[in-house]
Amino acid sequence: MERKNIDWGNLGFNYVQTDMRYVSNFKNGAWDDGCLTDQANITMSECACVLQYAQTCFEGLKAYTTENGHIVCFRPDLNASRMADSARRLKMPVFPEDRFVEAVVETVRANAQWVPPYGSGATLYVRPFMFGSDAIIGVKPATEYQFRVFVTPVGPYFKGGAKPVTVRISDLDRAAPRGTGHVKAGLNYAMSLYNIVDAHEQGYDENVYVDSATRTHIEETGGANIIFIKGNTLVTPKSDTILPSITRRSLLYVAKEYLNMEVEERPVFLSEIGDFEEAGLCGTAAVISPIGTIDDHGTLYRYAGMGDGIQKLYDTLTGIQMGRIEAPEGWIKVIE
Ligand SMILES: *Cc1c(COP(=O)(O)O)cnc(C)c1O
Repeated sequence: MERKNIDWGNLGFNYVQTDMRYVSNFKNGAWDDGCLTDQANITMSECACVLQYAQTCFEGLKAYTTENGHIVCFRPDLNASRMADSARRLKMPVFPEDRFVEAVVETVRANAQWVPPYGSGATLYVRPFMFGSDAIIGVKPATEYQFRVFVTPVGPYFKGGAKPVTVRISDLDRAAPRGTGHVKAGLNYAMSLYNIVDAHEQGYDENVYVDSATRTHIEETGGANIIFIKGNTLVTPKSDTILPSITRRSLLYVAKEYLNMEVEERPVFLSEIGDFEEAGLCGTAAVISPIGTIDDHGTLYRYAGMGDGIQKLYDTLTGIQMGRIEAPEGWIKVIE
């Protein structure tokens, strides 16, 4: 197969329009058969529920070329079930989970020329999403929906090594108790934009949110979960208002089963973050971004950056994804 003539190593994290995308529409109570299309633009009513009331949710995963030349993606079944949870919380019809995985596979296969080669550091980012598409002016769920999957090649997250990030404890909140923090809703991102722009203006890479009820324990950042390491123990916050990161869940398994680490999933209090030696942000985009500093209103907590623990976790998980290390049963979906 001919790959596109792209300088893979210098791609950023930007939308690049690729050849094909998958579309299925929900109307009269049922999803249609769905198909691949080359049409990248969407036309809909000015009063579409997504435009007026933000009825939309999304997913993000990656396809890679493995060491032996296969195109694969990582645990798409977990994205399918998470999107089903998001849809239920937003009163949207669930796109069947088996069809979700099939749509991801078909879309990646139809854009195989856009999958970056092994060793380039680049990957193919896959974005499934759905939205209420018919005109709704009184506040209620839409009756028509569109589910779509597009792909876009993205560059190596760390160019020239993983530079530790500097994050601040945020004064604004991300998720309310019993709110929507645990689902991947566009609305959670819309309301984080003010704060992330402000963080960047103040010289921080990310905002770390604390629980909004008591403001005593750590939750996550706007788009990544948090892990901490002390000695041989991996600690990650447990809370009902955190988005269940597939990367974080996979890292916990890797820590326990591949690296013989102790794993603790529990509330992590602000008052104890100084006890940890390493800290990192985890999500599909970067796998793990090491944290250098957490700034809690002028009190600076410093961590090892890409320390031994984070490095081992990173190397093992990316090794599994790229086919260098044997994966647990069911983690790798071979596309081609
Ligand atoms: C998507 C997302 C993550 C990361 O989840 P992954 O499944 O690991 O990509 C973490 N936090 C938030 C708020 C997210 O939206």
